[in-house]
Amino acid sequence: MKRYVAMGAVMMGVWLGTGAAAQAHGLWGHVHVTGWAAENLPQGELKAFLSEPEVFNALLFGAAFTDSGYFPQGGELARKSRAYSEHSHWEPFIADFIAWIKSNDPPPWQTLESRKRVAFLMGCASHGLQDEVFDSLFLPQVGFHDDGGQDEADPASDGFMALDMLIRFEPEQDLPMETLLELYQPLGEEITEDVILRSVRPMMSFYVNHRVGIDVARGQGMIGQDRLPWTRLHYMDPSVPGSLRAEIFPTMRYLQALWARLHGRFEGTQVVISAYPELPRRLRGADPASPDSWVTLLFGAAPRYEQAALSWGLTESPEQAVDFTKRNTRWGDPWPRLIRLTPNEPLEPGGWYTVELGAGVETIDGPVTQDPFEITFQVACDDPDDDACPDLGPLPEATIEPRDDFPHRPPTPDAGPDAQDAQDDAADAMPPELEDDAEHAEPDAPQGEEDAEPVPPNASNGASSGGKGGCSQTGGAPAPMGPGALIWAMWVIWRAKRRAPKGAPSP
Ligand SMILES: [Zn+2]
Repeated sequence: MKRYVAMGAVMMGVWLGTGAAAQAHGLWGHVHVTGWAAENLPQGELKAFLSEPEVFNALLFGAAFTDSGYFPQGGELARKSRAYSEHSHWEPFIADFIAWIKSNDPPPWQTLESRKRVAFLMGCASHGLQDEVFDSLFLPQVGFHDDGGQDEADPASDGFMALDMLIRFEPEQDLPMETLLELYQPLGEEITEDVILRSVRPMMSFYVNHRVGIDVARGQGMIGQDRLPWTRLHYMDPSVPGSLRAEIFPTMRYLQALWARLHGRFEGTQVVISAYPELPRRLRGADPASPDSWVTLLFGAAPRYEQAALSWGLTESPEQAVDFTKRNTRWGDPWPRLIRLTPNEPLEPGGWYTVELGAGVETIDGPVTQDPFEITFQVACDDPDDDACPDLGPLPEATIEPRDDFPHRPPTPDAGPDAQDAQDDAADAMPPELEDDAEHAEPDAPQGEEDAEPVPPNASNGASSGGKGGCSQTGGAPAPMGPGALIWAMWVIWRAKRRAPKGAPSP
């Protein structure tokens, strides 16, 4: 067990501590936002297509696969893994994948293999969109309210899902390997089947499974709920742009856009698929110092950023322009899936504004937009009882189906046969480059001194405190041994071994 604890700690620690250029909210978040988006689709051919169990699994696995190259690897393998993983996040890869399918395996897709390949593409694409949204919109909220950053918010958001018992999708590995190898050829790295399999394996063994992954996430949640109290309350708040729940409808509309792109039906006029504020909601705030004042357009096919001409003015008198800054996704990209408008002056509470995107923007698939896009919205009033801001009534929210039969097993002192299986998986998946490190790692390694003090797994019942929705975790406080202790050891070693924070990109 000690060997397993040490290995798991190092593996997860290196993964969590390393970060990645486009790695954002946790994998359980990606898998579930994508699954919930599919479940919220209106009745029709796409919903029917994704309802086939193997196809739905491929969708969910694609949503996890995108981060597989960030799991701990060493040396040359790490470089190659990160190269394919990073590339898989962005629209150029998605556009190439769509073009490949249209050329080599156009619709209708008669074989299961074909249908799974399409769904896998959609999962990868959904993951990339969610990273852009979460990083560009929700992380600034976490920084504003909790003074927290990506290294804390990413694992915590998964952790809160575990504490709130929202985890129920557990995808199985299913790769369109030959297609991927072909698509990765231009990368300038030799991406082989072995590279991909050795990257996917630790992801599946250490995290994307109910035997270990939910316990790890739960431990992250217990830590995160004390450190990030605002995030704990709002990570599923549909009114906060970029929260997991607020990502569901945009992801659903992106799935529809991808379906249309695959069928050659995506018109330039449909290019903006969603926006924050998500009408009929109001813009959350008028203060330019707060991300609540930002307006964001989301795209079903990436626009050439530099060509996007935007204007923002009062609806009644458009000549009264708002002084604003046009901003790319947090990471910057010539082909982003979102564009932000951040005001440089206070807005008028209760005021009505119109934002316009001019026509003539090239999209990544080639078409140029023929018509302008316009969104008109109201800024929230300072006083919620202000007559200028009447109650909006019930607002549209994505549906999240509960599933009580998912194995949310409470931690027990006797980890049982499942843990033994996971231990075997962990030992098998351990890259040789890290085995020496793991052998010498000790659970009581010196603890980092800064910010979040970890909560010992037996110190409090984190699952039921401080969060919305509550948690009916039947085990009460996690037991001091077993998976809880594993998580504790992981955290301690992670903090001790953690690298210096990566350079923060300019927003
Ligand atoms: Zn990612």
